[in-house]
Amino acid sequence: MILSIPSPNYMSRQGRRPRWVILHGTAGFHKAEDCGYYFQQPSSQVSSHYVIGQDGTIVQCVDEAQAAWANGVLDAGADSWWYDTPNPNYDTISIEHIKPHTDNSDEITPAQKAASFRLIAQICARWGIPTRPADAQGGITGHFSIAPINRSGCPGPYPWDELFNYLNGTSSDDGDEMKTISLKDASSFFEQAPGNAWRCKKNNCVVGNAILDFYRRFGGDALCGLSYLGLPLNNEHPVTAKDGSKVIVQDFERGSLAYDPAHKLDGPPGVGAIYLTHRGVALEVQELRRQLEDAKKQNHAAEVETLKKQVDGYKQAVSAAVKTLQSIK
Ligand SMILES: [Zn+2]
Repeated sequence: MILSIPSPNYMSRQGRRPRWVILHGTAGFHKAEDCGYYFQQPSSQVSSHYVIGQDGTIVQCVDEAQAAWANGVLDAGADSWWYDTPNPNYDTISIEHIKPHTDNSDEITPAQKAASFRLIAQICARWGIPTRPADAQGGITGHFSIAPINRSGCPGPYPWDELFNYLNGTSSDDGDEMKTISLKDASSFFEQAPGNAWRCKKNNCVVGNAILDFYRRFGGDALCGLSYLGLPLNNEHPVTAKDGSKVIVQDFERGSLAYDPAHKLDGPPGVGAIYLTHRGVALEVQELRRQLEDAKKQNHAAEVETLKKQVDGYKQAVSAAVKTLQSIK
């Protein structure tokens, strides 16, 4: 059931149709109703079409046919298609998720997730919105896509991969779902980075977007990519395929991943856009650099040893000379 707490904070879509669903985190509030009452105050000057509570309660604040006041101005670095619309609010339907922590660090609850997935599926069906990650034609994304600086943590952790599996019917329906790991599962090693990305706590390397989605489900059991690939050793970097085109590669402790939808670098049978590839050249260069540093350190140590011996020699010579002088007196 959807509760209605209408907000006066909305405007006409100016004849435009919603093409994107934008997910948000409330960074405060404990109940969907409380957030709804806040949006109901004219003075708040903000709203969202929907708010979903941690208990799965859905509150509707603005009619889908109207534009809510959920997305502010574009930040530098916003996804390119937002520059083609006079105001992202005209073209979007916004869903807030209650997250009590002001940094939106809460994982959404199972009840909240179920309500969110169902609502998104219904909205996409009603408006013909593509059930895929947002691109210039439409789709689903977070507030970070519009405001990557000021709202990089909106909505914060969200099970994007699971959402798209759910929407596209690729999640198995026999209850034997393929395992994916969440940031919580990997929290000893990773923290949230802006957008769909995790930062390694050990070395600050960032795993993001399609490679992160792959990493989170690779292997399908244990701790997936964390178990089978280990930690990232570098960031995504381009390597050159035989035909001269660039392919993105990222190296991990136990293997390297290529993001290569056109299979320019390699084409193992049956793979999609991402596959396990041979160790990257970048990694070999990194290893050689490390060896060089070690060699330098060893050289340095040897030099210091020689200098020490020389100094000791001088000390002995000086004390011998002093003794000689004293004996002359
Ligand atoms: Zn937001």
